[in-house]
Amino acid sequence: MTATIVGAGFAGLRSAMLLNRAGWSVRVVEARSRIGGRAWTERFGTGEEYESGAEWIDADHYRVLRLLEEFGLTPAVEDLGPRRFSYLGETIGEDEWPGFPTIEDQFFDGLSNAPTVRTLQDYVAKFPLSPRDRWRLTTELMSDEGDSLDRIGFAEWRKTVALYEAREGGEVSAWRFPGGVTRILEAMAATLPQPPETRVTVRRIDADGTVTTDEDTWQSDAVIVTPPPAVLASIELPVAMPALPMSRTVKLAIRYERAWWHPAGGRLQTDGPATQLWPAAGGIPVLIAYLYGDDAEATVQAEDPGARVREGIESRLPESRGLWIEAKLIDWIHDPFALGGFSLRPPDLEFRLLPPAGRIHWAGEWTADWFGFVEGALESAERVTAEIAARTA
Ligand SMILES: Cc1cc2nc3c(=O)[nH]c(=O)nc-3n(C[C@H](O)[C@H](O)[C@H](O)COP(=O)(O)OP(=O)(O)OC[C@H]3O[C@@H](n4cnc5c(N)ncnc54)[C@H](O)[C@@H]3O)c2cc1C
Repeated sequence: MTATIVGAGFAGLRSAMLLNRAGWSVRVVEARSRIGGRAWTERFGTGEEYESGAEWIDADHYRVLRLLEEFGLTPAVEDLGPRRFSYLGETIGEDEWPGFPTIEDQFFDGLSNAPTVRTLQDYVAKFPLSPRDRWRLTTELMSDEGDSLDRIGFAEWRKTVALYEAREGGEVSAWRFPGGVTRILEAMAATLPQPPETRVTVRRIDADGTVTTDEDTWQSDAVIVTPPPAVLASIELPVAMPALPMSRTVKLAIRYERAWWHPAGGRLQTDGPATQLWPAAGGIPVLIAYLYGDDAEATVQAEDPGARVREGIESRLPESRGLWIEAKLIDWIHDPFALGGFSLRPPDLEFRLLPPAGRIHWAGEWTADWFGFVEGALESAERVTAEIAARTA
């Protein structure tokens, strides 16, 4: 039996591994010049490495942990120190905000009998909070969702919270990929008898398993399609895709002369254009600015995105002044093969997994319960390969 897999991100590579193990002949085609999709380790000209996309593994992302184990890898732990918040010119340590854990508990506890509202923003607005507490709650939720809360449908968001509540004391962002995410992606690709074919953009897929690129047409017993729906709009398909938007999430990697955030720690959340900051792995003087929502949009559209973020950091954290060397913007919003950070479940949409269209099967983080995560991409690979096995049995 033959399968074509469209996209060599985590979902595509894991699907290929699983089908290959089940005895299928697998062809992976990838539009970019590299594998990895929304996960790849990049480096500055001077050699310092940083993650351009996926970076963190939550403690209960068991599929990711099992995958690392398969390759003899142990997730990397780093104590980044407590978080600090910069709000209206004041820098506040996590421990100096004692009432906040109670506010968060009340917020999530209230969900069990929450009124039906349209967006996550509407739900937050119902809570009587001081402006400072409201800012922190909003910015933390936005960080999780990767976008403004008025773009997040409340009903679907509530379902994801149920998933988090089921975690066994799991910690968010507990680990990073050891040695960088590229290492695991390359290890996955190396298990395949035929390496993924890069720079091959699929233009059309038919229900009978025919795949068409600019140069070639071939037929397979199964086709697994992994890019997100927004990207699939540019492929001719026999069915309509769900209207799932992508988060406005980008990163700016900043190289400094020295790690000025020591010893206070580099985990910062600000009310400026550098919404969230954390140090890159390995104690190097590189800080990642993680931007989402309107800040991300305004930054990628700025004439000089680096200067915008730099001003935002230096005005709030004067200790950083004079140490900036260079910055690299990773603009996922305008990346034609991603069109954003990760899939969102918008207001007024009840997500339903698309059934296979003939020989075409859908995978990718957007199809999973753990959508938005590498864990979701791996979950989708397990689901889709079982789906194919059942259809072809
Ligand atoms: C800034 C950022 C930070 C993130 N942080 C985290 C994190 O800390 N932890 C976490 O778990 N997740 C994180 N994520 C999410 C994570 O990166 C994704 O959920 C995961 O990588 C998605 O994998 P995928 O295989 O489903 O999709 P993708 O990686 O997007 O793979 C789809 C592939 O299809 C290819 N493709 C598209 N169109 C075509 C075509 N026409 N023909 C052929 N190939 C095509 C694409 O190039 C791509 O390689 C982050 C994402 C971003 C952008």
